[in-house]
Amino acid sequence: MDTQTKADLKRHDLLINGKRVPPGTGEYSLNLNPATEEPIALVAQGSAADVDTAVAAARAALKVWNALRASERGRILNRFAELLRTHQDEIAALESLDAGKPIASVMRQDVPAAIDTLAYYAGWCDKINGQVVPVRPDALTYTLREPVGVVAAIVPWNFPLMIGMWKIAPALACGCTMIVKPAEITPLSALRIGELALEAGVPPGVLNIVTGKGRVVGDALVAHPGVDKVTFTGSPSVGRGILQGAAGNFKRVTLELGGKSANVIFDDANVDSAVRAASSGIFFNTGQVCSAGSRILAHRNVYDEVVERLVARAKAIRVGAPTSRETAMGPLVSATQMKTVLDYVDIGRKEGASLVAGGARIGERGFFVEPTVFANVEHEMRISQEEIFGPVASVIRFNDEDDAIRIANGTLYSLAAGVWSRDIGRVHRVARELKAGTVWINTYGYTDVRLPWGGSGDSGFGREHGDVAIENFTEPKAVWLSLDR
Ligand code: NAD
Repeated sequence: MDTQTKADLKRHDLLINGKRVPPGTGEYSLNLNPATEEPIALVAQGSAADVDTAVAAARAALKVWNALRASERGRILNRFAELLRTHQDEIAALESLDAGKPIASVMRQDVPAAIDTLAYYAGWCDKINGQVVPVRPDALTYTLREPVGVVAAIVPWNFPLMIGMWKIAPALACGCTMIVKPAEITPLSALRIGELALEAGVPPGVLNIVTGKGRVVGDALVAHPGVDKVTFTGSPSVGRGILQGAAGNFKRVTLELGGKSANVIFDDANVDSAVRAASSGIFFNTGQVCSAGSRILAHRNVYDEVVERLVARAKAIRVGAPTSRETAMGPLVSATQMKTVLDYVDIGRKEGASLVAGGARIGERGFFVEPTVFANVEHEMRISQEEIFGPVASVIRFNDEDDAIRIANGTLYSLAAGVWSRDIGRVHRVARELKAGTVWINTYGYTDVRLPWGGSGDSGFGREHGDVAIENFTEPKAVWLSLDR
């Protein structure tokens, strides 16, 4: 790219202590539009020194944020939610441009979910109570819930705004202050919402945004003695490193990691509804969803019908420019992600699965890949065991309920699962047996801030959302007061 074009691009600085500041190193990285591969912005490459400054600002802001009445914090967060609503078109366009997400689905899902999350936790601010716990007659004993302190939030690129808000909203509601590190390739919405937070009255230093590389900014945050908690969403390999890195000062850690979710279709299911949901379960957001139903388990009596219907749906999906309201599926987020997905298509072929739809890149510009379906997938194959994080469905045959449960539970992950059947006893039985943080019955893919979200095993630990998140961002304290004369 020539120097002139580079000079024309907007520079996005860090947001520390209420101000946009250039990175200490003076370095910026080029951000690309995944649909066109054209550069869209220059993004500040934060350094360990910038992290030091941000952590100092967040520590100092703890006092200011907690000097406010809880109801006032709630009012500020409600104003923040309102500002997000007023700016929803702008934020949606930014998110769509940066991450290649179809504008219609950003408007339908990401933005409303972010607003809803903020409004929900705004309501929690003045309801975070301790308890009086009567222990003995000569003492008053009670508990307080205090903020854990400074939180580092490390966010992935698949839902930058929504997952960012899943962390920001409860942390701020609990009186914590934060440093948010968006994914290197999708930082724009986080920087903009950091500005809106200030406009809403969130004091400077409460919400800092430090962009840059995981290996630099992420590592520095995780190792920093001034950070009390890390909340991370991303890949299992990075999550493992975070857990080790956070051991230095015994930070609290929440990890939301990957998935290889099974969507189990029994032969008494409404196959049409099941396949419709299974199709969006794997192709929504171009398959870049931690809970994507990437393994579709179909009973042998309906297996051929499931494959046939899924192939028809995959072929009918409108793949195209994220800016078009008609587009149902956009590009993958990056060239790296596209290569990973196409490599897995090769792996699937070599393993002997039948490629029955898609499998190729679309065009030569933009990171588009066809909605892809593999049939005759065996449970042990890599495409059935490993997270691809792209629009690739593996359809696996099963014989009976026990077989379905064995296959569904047979990966290292356990984030989510779906079950389709008209037999009320069976769906509850299977829901109990499935190793998953969320089970959808005769539906697939919903999340809501009121319900716990997370998994175990390679899907991480801890839960986000609801009252569980309030526990994540607070420390209980026991207080004893002597009533002696
Ligand atoms: P990633 O792990 O590569 O990156 C996630 C974040 O971690 C980014 O901000 C990145 O810059 C940062 N990071 C990278 N190296 C780091 C380091 N050494 N120290 C600290 N931070 C570092 O993941 P990704 O590719 O952005 O996202 C895809 C993964 O996220 C998938 O595995 C997916 O399943 C998972 N995910 C899980 C959920 C969930 O709720 N469980 C939701 C979305 C995505």
